[in-house]
Amino acid sequence: MKYISTRGGAPRLAFDDVLLTGLARDGGLYVPDSWPTFSPDDWRALRGLSYSELATRVMLPFVGGAIPEAEFADMVADAYRGFGHPAVAPLRQLGDGLWLMELFHGPTLAFKDMAMQVLGRLFDHVLTRRGERVTIVGATSGDTGSAAIEACRDRDAIECFILFPHGRVSEVQRRQMTTVDAPNIHCIALSGHFDDCQDAVKGMFNDMAFRDAHRLSAVNSINWARIMPQIAYYVAAAVALGAPDREIGFAVPTGNFGNIFAAYAARRMGLPIRRMIIGSNANDILTRTLDNGVMAMGTVVPTLSPSMDIQVSSNFERMLFELFDRDGAALAEAMAGFRATGQLALGAARWESLRALFDACRLDDSGTREAMGRWHRATGDSLDPHTAVGVEAAVRRWRDPAVPVVAMATAHPAKFPDAVVAATGMRPALPERMADLFERPERYTVLTNDLEAVQGHVATVLDGRRP
Ligand SMILES: *Cc1c(COP(=O)(O)O)cnc(C)c1O
Repeated sequence: MKYISTRGGAPRLAFDDVLLTGLARDGGLYVPDSWPTFSPDDWRALRGLSYSELATRVMLPFVGGAIPEAEFADMVADAYRGFGHPAVAPLRQLGDGLWLMELFHGPTLAFKDMAMQVLGRLFDHVLTRRGERVTIVGATSGDTGSAAIEACRDRDAIECFILFPHGRVSEVQRRQMTTVDAPNIHCIALSGHFDDCQDAVKGMFNDMAFRDAHRLSAVNSINWARIMPQIAYYVAAAVALGAPDREIGFAVPTGNFGNIFAAYAARRMGLPIRRMIIGSNANDILTRTLDNGVMAMGTVVPTLSPSMDIQVSSNFERMLFELFDRDGAALAEAMAGFRATGQLALGAARWESLRALFDACRLDDSGTREAMGRWHRATGDSLDPHTAVGVEAAVRRWRDPAVPVVAMATAHPAKFPDAVVAATGMRPALPERMADLFERPERYTVLTNDLEAVQGHVATVLDGRRP
């Protein structure tokens, strides 16, 4: 298996090169050059496997021989070993034909762990084999930083620096980053806003001498290896509920279209998925695209579900590539137009193809709060605000009563305690294994918002780390 860029102007690469490259050189995103397919018997053969065995089988065609099968299987097993539930991603029934898949049992209590835990091990494996090391640098407004830190901790070939805005992330979020006791993890609290952190990271990448000297790299959301492990949980849910002998639907709270694109990939592999429902918060570029046939940039407004507060859904480009019949040159032109005007009209035929596969639903903060309160009264359990957007999208948009629909629970309620308290009056408890989070010692460096100071700090730390 080889990978091609959605804009048609970058070299075809094997899996291990795509992993280390991330964004394609032509500005596009890498996708498989063809979709591998499973037969009905292939799906049936997954019944009864452990989560990591199933995930290994689903991912192997995408790895395409770049990593030996036994080593890959070990990495995947290791990635999910530390999860707080034996099923890794358990299914729970919420109502008639309505299910919830909990993707939040990883080390940082959000679904990004499902992919990041695999990604960190893949990075380390490929780098070690090549005799290379990298320095991961990233900015976070809260969530992605801790997932990246947990993915990189104790990996020999990786040093990891995460910048967060000093005093502007929640205490749970800060402690999930700063209490990680690993020598290769370096947290920086920058005095400033999230944008200042992002600018500092961009500044480091744009300084070519610095970038090359320290081999800077990123684990960003457009990396194909962030999508690939997510395909497995759609397969696990479908097989558990009777696929391939029964159809299934999914509802996904999404911002960047990364999570739900993995459902689309599973469908292309032959999984009988009837439809997929997009749940948007007030930053509803995806719902508007579905409703109007035009992708139009908006301005970001802060919501109760901050991990979906985006202006442009970067992973939607992978879906556009399919809607453009994989014509990279045509898509490159359309994306240039989008960058210039802030709008991309799909045209009638593509819009119709999109609507045949997806439905979408927008939920603002008051709707989210109302849904959280209602589910709490009905079940006694709390949903985090992101998950509530997905569950409510399933309730409002699912139209096939005979087909079960699974809503994806993307965060543990204890990750967003203030929103949960406001909606339900109850404070969600941290899981047992993290109950001492507030007693663990923290380790981070406070720096002024000054690129030279940040670069100086990074260089000094790296000097001390390399004999
Ligand atoms: C990142 C995140 C999302 C959105 O994921 P996409 O890949 O943009 O669809 C949803 N919920 C939570 C809790 C997240 O952390």
